Amino acid sequence: MSEKINLMPDALANQIAAGEVVQRPASVVKELLENSVDAGATEVRLVVKDAGKTLIQVTDNGSGMGPLDARMCFERHATSKIASSDDLFRLSTFGFRGEALASIAAVAEVELKTKRVEDQVGQRILVSNSKATEQEPIVCQDGTQFSIRNLFFNIPARKVFLKTDNVEFRHIEDEFMRIAMSHPEVAFSLEHNGHVLYQLRSENLKQRIVALLGQGQLENLIPVDEPTRIVSLTGFIGKPSLARRSRGQQFFFANGRYIRDAYLHHAVMNAYKDLIPDGHYPLYVLFMEIDPAAIDVNVHPTKTEVKFEDEKAVYAILYSALRKSLAQFQLAPSLDFESETVFQNPGASITGNTRHSGFGSAPMNQLPGGSGHIPAVTIRSSGQSNSPAAAWKSLYEVAIQTANPTEHEQVELPLQTAQPEEEKQKQLFQLHQAYVVAQIKSGMLVIDQNAAHERILFEQFLSKWQNQQQVPVQQILFPVRIEMSVQEAQILRENLEDLLQLGYELTEFGPTTFLVQGLPVDVEGMDATSLIQTLVDQVRHQVQLHRADRREALARTLARLQAIPSGKLLNQVEMERLINQLFACQYPDYTPDGRQTLFTLSLHEIAERLKPQA
Ligand code: ADP
Ligand code: MG
Repeated sequence: MSEKINLMPDALANQIAAGEVVQRPASVVKELLENSVDAGATEVRLVVKDAGKTLIQVTDNGSGMGPLDARMCFERHATSKIASSDDLFRLSTFGFRGEALASIAAVAEVELKTKRVEDQVGQRILVSNSKATEQEPIVCQDGTQFSIRNLFFNIPARKVFLKTDNVEFRHIEDEFMRIAMSHPEVAFSLEHNGHVLYQLRSENLKQRIVALLGQGQLENLIPVDEPTRIVSLTGFIGKPSLARRSRGQQFFFANGRYIRDAYLHHAVMNAYKDLIPDGHYPLYVLFMEIDPAAIDVNVHPTKTEVKFEDEKAVYAILYSALRKSLAQFQLAPSLDFESETVFQNPGASITGNTRHSGFGSAPMNQLPGGSGHIPAVTIRSSGQSNSPAAAWKSLYEVAIQTANPTEHEQVELPLQTAQPEEEKQKQLFQLHQAYVVAQIKSGMLVIDQNAAHERILFEQFLSKWQNQQQVPVQQILFPVRIEMSVQEAQILRENLEDLLQLGYELTEFGPTTFLVQGLPVDVEGMDATSLIQTLVDQVRHQVQLHRADRREALARTLARLQAIPSGKLLNQVEMERLINQLFACQYPDYTPDGRQTLFTLSLHEIAERLKPQA
């Protein structure tokens, strides 16, 4: 009988092994970004084409590699990170096994350019199908650049299982966010098909959370800091009122690496129990430092799961730490008003955050929703006194009621007398057709009319949807036909119903063609085509950028488009309505993107300014 056992060719064995590590483009992204961070980089650039199917390129300014390492790094079990079995024990949970590059090189075409500071020249190496095909010295910058092309070119069966570019890119973005979140001190950028989607500077964790999850989160973050003997816990959690129906804002890190853990997630949900409605998820970004010896290492190294030896204790610590943080936030509403320097440059760390303000205007007397109180958009567990809205409102009301013409004579605005016919003096004044100035008890209040209206509309839109209210539609005499790309059409289709409720009547007229038949009364006179186009652009951009809810993105965009522009003259009634509506908002002090809507100037500050210089 003849022998039957054959040795598998190396390349094939490598490919099979690679299957464990490289499941999709996002796996490559994860490994490369981790390597860059491990190499001490302070700047890491990720460039992706076609959701990583065509190109994944990571450039860093880390340690770089010498000529030998540059070649060695593609060998299986080539790692600079494990020198003893102790190290292995410490690190193996997280996949430090020197397998990533070997696996990637088995299933793609890899180009490596790398240079150490101490070397005169760098190295360029091409590897394909696990074989180095070229190596040459080159002139290049200090650091390392990996370019991964044609992923799975040699495993067609695997390629077939890749999902659409949208889905694959979403996975890439997830990995990018996880690594960027856990290394706020490192500057990261992400570019997809020529568009820069993230440009994150080196910053602190709070700023990084805002840069990744949206400006709206700033007023919403509660710090967690709980050092215990078993585990030390730090990070931020979101206020209950802004919990969302969708996931995507939950991050756990154990010893610096992202993990997914249903049991610990349960601990968090339990801490929020009774504070958020069913089916909602709070934001959390939590870092656990734990003795590596207390983590079970018998878990698949490339999975994002870990097993804690004393799971119950970790659960209990997590639960009580969060309860404590949540309680502190509820007892100290004044914290809501702390302004952070982060605001000074909203959007600075995100490029492409274009704003199309001044895009038409809505007459103030046609504001949807009238001047009545706006129902809270989300359920609050804490008493009304905890909301910034309530506090601002009382501040303002007190000011109006106690405004006594003789009390602060020396600082009263001269222009308030321009409205003598007002029976009850409101003392409102429009500055350069852009700001509304009001006297308040402590001094004066300045409101940005455009930003304020954006906030008002945003909350009104959300509440329209929530309460199933319809905004009146103004029919267009001659329906406007709009052509879209396939992707744009898809976005528009997803939003048709919500748009209709807000007064935008659009119907499908073909796979990528739509007819605009009506617009909300407020936006009469705007160019329907560019309005819809801008809308689709911005919703897509925001959903990608902030992972915002689809609806929230739509509401933000519409609010921005419909908000009264600066430069529009407002009369007393309009100004008053604007202020009343603003203070009926849940978060009156910032636009949904974090632009400040108002500030106050106290009598004391004014007096200080006028003090004679010594
Ligand atoms: P591991 O990260 O588990 O060590 P990898 O296959 O991911 O295994 O990488 C192998 C080795 O290649 C690393 O240990 C490191 O020495 C080197 N290396 C990889 N990427 C970089 C980089 N961006 N900068 C410097 N060295 C790197
Ligand atoms: Mg690695």
